[in-house]
Amino acid sequence: MSKTVPGAKSRPTDPPTETPSGDQPQWRPQTLMVRGGLNRSEFGETSEAIFLTSGYIYDRAEDAEAAFKGENDRFIYSRYGNPTVGMFEERMRLLEGAEAVRSTASGMSAVFASLMAQLSAGSRVVASRALFGSILYIIGEILPRFGVETEFVDGSDMEGWAKALSRPATCVFLETPSNPGLEVIDIAAIAELAHAAGATLTVDNVFATPILQKPLELGADIVVYSATKHIDGQGRALGGVILGSADFCNGDLMTFLRHTGPALSPFNAWTLLKGIETLEVRVERQVANAVNVATFLEDHPKIGRVLHPDLPSHPQHDLARRQMRGGGTVIAFDVTGGKETAFRFANALKLVDISNNLGDSKSLLTHPATTTHQRLTPEDRARLGISDEMVRLSVGLEDVEDLKNDLRNALMLC
Ligand SMILES: *Cc1c(COP(=O)(O)O)cnc(C)c1O
Repeated sequence: MSKTVPGAKSRPTDPPTETPSGDQPQWRPQTLMVRGGLNRSEFGETSEAIFLTSGYIYDRAEDAEAAFKGENDRFIYSRYGNPTVGMFEERMRLLEGAEAVRSTASGMSAVFASLMAQLSAGSRVVASRALFGSILYIIGEILPRFGVETEFVDGSDMEGWAKALSRPATCVFLETPSNPGLEVIDIAAIAELAHAAGATLTVDNVFATPILQKPLELGADIVVYSATKHIDGQGRALGGVILGSADFCNGDLMTFLRHTGPALSPFNAWTLLKGIETLEVRVERQVANAVNVATFLEDHPKIGRVLHPDLPSHPQHDLARRQMRGGGTVIAFDVTGGKETAFRFANALKLVDISNNLGDSKSLLTHPATTTHQRLTPEDRARLGISDEMVRLSVGLEDVEDLKNDLRNALMLC
């Protein structure tokens, strides 16, 4: 860590002043989450500083010339890089164990940039079908307009993946566990198929978080996050992160981001940086709450299917055990009786809020069929297992007994 990020010309992420030996710190993950990337100013502040500046000045015209030639390591303009944004990026890089990293203004700009930096007319994308709504729109609707061939595969259909990847491809994109059906996809197996087809594998790791799943260790090439979710985790700021090789992040991706400009604001970067400090503590408690709530719901007479990767009844439970440290903070379940009953249940909740966000310290409930996935045809929803009875619950940090009481009371009234 005594060096700047490899290849990141004109964008120094200086060493944390406290790095013990000067090289990559030997710190364990939780320490990195609190201190990784820290880059104190001359004032010696405890908390990371917010550099709310769009530009930077040069002592001499020669320095500006050298900066634009890429001959010195310095900040030029906050669309390219910023000290607070750099601290957030470095902390994410250390946490994920990636070679390099870039941040963006939202999860969607991270997904879009990670694809566009790799694709051109004639490229081919193979993706899992159960994707976050806007990603489905990018891959299914936007990319084909520019001559990119796209194909969707059911996530757990290994024969489908093998068939789709028996022809050359450029990018493979998947989300696991998926939203809202919590389908778990075998990252290592798909990575092998993707690489044999000449494609990179990108994993949207939002539902798993960097705490519970490490796609790069399983063979993925690129990991994307909506930092809006657990990384902030307190409903305050949008953000996105892309992690991968130095070649990609500091090459085509950096060029794409610099010129198209979905830059993360320094203020949001600071908010997310502070979010990482408590990420592991929050996620572990939220997973424990989620498993507790899911187990309670499985025994409730008014509840049909309950989906959470940590439940032995989950169709890919063994795979989830192999590739995840915990099944995540989100559960999905069917409230027997259809849309009206599901709505009565949602409206009867007094503690849990109705909201389409997730990964928050506040528990949030949504009805995917009429919100996040209403754009889909009923057939496509059925294919993804999204019934009118299904609700998705993002389990927060409240006392789990209060949560169960709220759910129990609402179920009595619906
Ligand atoms: C929220 C989300 C996104 C998009 O992130 P934004 O920050 O809202 O742009 C992408 N993928 C998944 C799985 C998400 O949950």
